[in-house]
Amino acid sequence: MADISKVPYSRIEIKKYKDIISPVLYNEILTLGEKLKRIKIAVVNSTASGGGVAEILKSLIPMFESIGINIAWYVTRTEPNFFSTTKKLHNLLQGQQGKFSDKELKQYIDTNKQIAEQLKQLNSDVLIINDPQPLSAGAEVCKKFKTVWHCHVDTSFVNEWARAMIVPFVNKYSRVIFSLSEYELEGINKDKLLFFPPAIDPLSLKNVIINRDFAENMLRRFKIDPRRPILVQISRFDHWKDPLGVIKSYLQVRKHFPDSQLILTGSLPEDDPEAIQVIQEIKDKTINDENIFILSDRDGLGSIEINALQTIADVVIQKSKREGFGLTVTEAMWKKNPVVGGKTGGIKVQIEDGISGFLVETIEQCTNAVITLLKDVNLKTRMGEKAKESVREKYLMPRLLRDYMLMLIGMT
Ligand code: UDP
Repeated sequence: MADISKVPYSRIEIKKYKDIISPVLYNEILTLGEKLKRIKIAVVNSTASGGGVAEILKSLIPMFESIGINIAWYVTRTEPNFFSTTKKLHNLLQGQQGKFSDKELKQYIDTNKQIAEQLKQLNSDVLIINDPQPLSAGAEVCKKFKTVWHCHVDTSFVNEWARAMIVPFVNKYSRVIFSLSEYELEGINKDKLLFFPPAIDPLSLKNVIINRDFAENMLRRFKIDPRRPILVQISRFDHWKDPLGVIKSYLQVRKHFPDSQLILTGSLPEDDPEAIQVIQEIKDKTINDENIFILSDRDGLGSIEINALQTIADVVIQKSKREGFGLTVTEAMWKKNPVVGGKTGGIKVQIEDGISGFLVETIEQCTNAVITLLKDVNLKTRMGEKAKESVREKYLMPRLLRDYMLMLIGMT
């Protein structure tokens, strides 16, 4: 049986963000907050840790609460193999070929009906559902709540079967949020649509600015040598993130920088059963290479260790082939580390090619961009400054809070 459970989270004080964002945005948030004091919001997704959505909710929800808004966070609890079906839906939405079998479709609909029974018990006015896993559950309860579907997936190359399957559910919602306008799906009523990108929390353990010595010491624990060049990609282990392409590129870079190291680290979230297969595939391919480190949250890499890696990396790579947004890119840029990123989805919006990082499509382009940054530290510093300023302007959590509040005011 599927159900939902409430997620605990740490408190946040909005006034701590006052000096990081503009006074105009800070005051706007407080004013909008006054207008939303009476509504109750419930937010639902499929995992409390690992991956971008959990990362956003961990900060966005307590930030809402810090301005006096009544909000609660729930995750769905389902049979483990439900996530094999929903990962397939995720892949189809990102453009993979194929479709659900009758059994998978039945499992998706039935599990969501069970989740919907639990959602009906919530004492809320607005229900915000994240991503495709609980999508049809939200559609089931659209008469009881005002409903919002927030899709974080890159749907620019959507599989037609998947599009046709989800659109009737999506159209039952009051509002639908995509990170970019190019993700709009044919058939969704235009008057429901909103486009705004996600954001990072500059004061979370993942993003708070830490000192280099502290970061270096932390990484020695994993046998990473901070005196040698470090290349990293930090991602879920997912073929859309092209970890094998990153390894190929690193092997080319190593011809020029023989003492360089590659670190591929990824979380293994509960709702991504493919991650275990992908990490195994990578480990098998790199087993005899002591300069390639394959790590995960299960090796003790939490938020502060990821922060340390993003802080001291000589080059951060995010060579995705599809990317809804790419918080890992934002996180590195916030630490003044320009990123070599795949020219796709949210990455191409975040990186100004040649100015605040490099956009690449092929292994050769990736290799050349990495070598350029390794050779030219002054260029890296200049790009890093630009990268940080663009995150400050566009991709910090208070801006996302403001966009959400404007949406909610328009609905109530
Ligand atoms: N992440 C992490 N540990 C890892 C790998 C990733 O904490 O080993 C975090 C990463 O810092 C980011 C999130 O997971 O906050 C990934 O978000 P992104 O938008 O880049 O990708 P998604 O997983 O949502 O596709």
